[in-house]
Amino acid sequence: MLNQDLNKSPSTPTHSSHVFLAYQDFGKQKIKRLIQILRITQIALLLVSIITISLGRYGDAVVLLATGIFLLSVDWVIYKKRPLIGATIFLGTLTLMLSYLAWVGSGIRDNALLGYCGVLVFAAMLGNKRLLIILLSIMVTVLLLNAYVNEYGIYQNTIEPINLATGIITIIVLAVIGSAIWMLAHDYRAALEALARENERVKSAKNHIEHMVLHDPLTGLPNRIMAQNNFDSIFQKARERQQLLGLIFIDLDNLKPINDSLGHQAGDQILKEVALRLLSYTKKVDRVCRYGGDEFIVFMPDINSPDQVSQASLEILQLVSENYIYRNIEIFCTCSIGIALAPQDGEDLDTLIKKADIAMYHSKDSGRNSFRFFNPAINRNMLEHISLISGMRKALQDNQFSLHYQPKIDLHTNQVCGLEALLRWNHPDQGFIPPVTFIPLAESSGLIIQLGEWVITEACAQAKRWYDEGILQFAVAVNISSIQFKRGNIDAIVLGALATSGLPPQYLELELTESLLIEDSDRLATTLAHLRSEGVHLSIDDFGTGYSNLGYLKKFEVEALKIDQSFVRKMDDHSGDAAIVRAIIQMATSLGLKTIAEGVEDANTAALLRSLGCTQAQGYYWARPMPADEVKNFCLTER
Ligand code: C2E
Ligand code: CA
Ligand code: CA
Repeated sequence: MLNQDLNKSPSTPTHSSHVFLAYQDFGKQKIKRLIQILRITQIALLLVSIITISLGRYGDAVVLLATGIFLLSVDWVIYKKRPLIGATIFLGTLTLMLSYLAWVGSGIRDNALLGYCGVLVFAAMLGNKRLLIILLSIMVTVLLLNAYVNEYGIYQNTIEPINLATGIITIIVLAVIGSAIWMLAHDYRAALEALARENERVKSAKNHIEHMVLHDPLTGLPNRIMAQNNFDSIFQKARERQQLLGLIFIDLDNLKPINDSLGHQAGDQILKEVALRLLSYTKKVDRVCRYGGDEFIVFMPDINSPDQVSQASLEILQLVSENYIYRNIEIFCTCSIGIALAPQDGEDLDTLIKKADIAMYHSKDSGRNSFRFFNPAINRNMLEHISLISGMRKALQDNQFSLHYQPKIDLHTNQVCGLEALLRWNHPDQGFIPPVTFIPLAESSGLIIQLGEWVITEACAQAKRWYDEGILQFAVAVNISSIQFKRGNIDAIVLGALATSGLPPQYLELELTESLLIEDSDRLATTLAHLRSEGVHLSIDDFGTGYSNLGYLKKFEVEALKIDQSFVRKMDDHSGDAAIVRAIIQMATSLGLKTIAEGVEDANTAALLRSLGCTQAQGYYWARPMPADEVKNFCLTER
């Protein structure tokens, strides 16, 4: 064992190698001790032999000196890396020598037998159990034999007189034993200390691992697993005090665009900052948790009424929406909050989170940067919404979306004068889902950014194909949601799609909503001016349904108004809608704008619109939205 330890080379200091090194050190230490005790013993043998010479006991002196010299062989054995054999030779020789001296001296009463104690101590220290037992057996045999021969008169030991010399010999033997025991105790203490240090290291490593398992590495907040533990104890206390527990589910509204535009480091920075702000609010780390990518949970114990949770949610909304600074850039990030209360909404964390999550989607739905309590009435509706939203994400990856195109007709020539791209979702289970169902959800969930980008890219690519075939004498229109303007870098996306597809910009038209334009922000004005200057056309969709503030018509370089189909369809009854359509057309004409009537389903309406001076129209009367491969035929058909 000792030998093996000596031959092992130290490995890298991992956890297990620390333990190994401790044993190896102990092995080296043992050899050091063996040599030290060997030396002390040899010196003691020399001293004692001098004393015995002075006493005239030359025979004993020769034995002592011979033993001392013979013990030099132990050095050689140790040098040959056999410390255990060295120890055996050393202690065996000593035992034989002591037994001989006792036998020829005072027998059982001989002070040489004191040396037995020393040999046993050395054996325990330097040898192993087997050596200890063998030596002890030899000693017992010698003692018994000595007692026996004296008892039966076979041999008679004489008790030597006590004098100064025998006293000094005894002191020397005691000194040797004493120093050996001191060394033993010292080594033992050192080993204990090394063990304690090792223990400490293991403990701190364990704590570190535990922390890693239970905490989010980015923010250092408790993770889901830890949140479960914290919830259990917080809820238990709330229950004992008959109080409510509020679960505030926080979802950041715009982490994705931040990641997309400024990089993941910026997103990480925001997440860390949000974590800090939430911690500064709750003051206690067991009340916050990072639940997922951009989701956090705050537990509100000690609640007596839901108002307190409302108040807390307001404060959290405020905290999160304060500016973030990343590399000297100011970043805005808001959050949407859903709240569930225990025990009324559920008594386990999973149920509460599910309900808070539904409430959170509800607050996203109603414009974000707001909070909502879980309400069972909206539950089913929300669940459908949630499944549609996640379905949409998947649909984008799985190419379930496609574009259909509806022709716009020039009312004078009856020829196609434009195409409108309309999104279609062919759901694998639910079949065709109309855009009126999923566009609002895409807008409220923010998914419209990606979806809208897909539409623009796809429409540009298709338009380029038609352009190359020579059938594109007009622009292809794409519907743009106001969210795309507010949240995304729409000009970069549009110009990027044009560049990638190679479609000249004048063949692309963007249909904007009135509600977007009345916002009248400088950023919007710059974006639209940029797009116009590149040659992209702009028109206003669903005109008449919005605020109809005509100021913006001049401000932004819009070229066409699309008269909403609700007016067009009721033009021939007497509701006064015909008058509205006439007014819109007159106003548009005076501003130099084209008018496009939507939702024309019959010849009468078409004729009426023509008579009112409307320039273009679109509707089932001419064509329903059709797949791209039917467009060419339609365009080439004579009318
Ligand atoms: P919209 O932009 O007003 O599009 C016209 C809608 O009226 C289309 O419905 C079209 O199929 C329908 N329509 C056209 N002619 C007639 C007609 O004669 N009679 C009737 N009853 N309907 C007619 P669709 O395709 O279901 O689209 C509905 C709305 O969804 C669109 O209204 C638009 O607001 C939105 N949408 C569609 N595609 C996109 C898109 O790619 N992006 C965005 N942001 N919104 C889109
Ligand atoms: Ca439209
Ligand atoms: Ca429309």
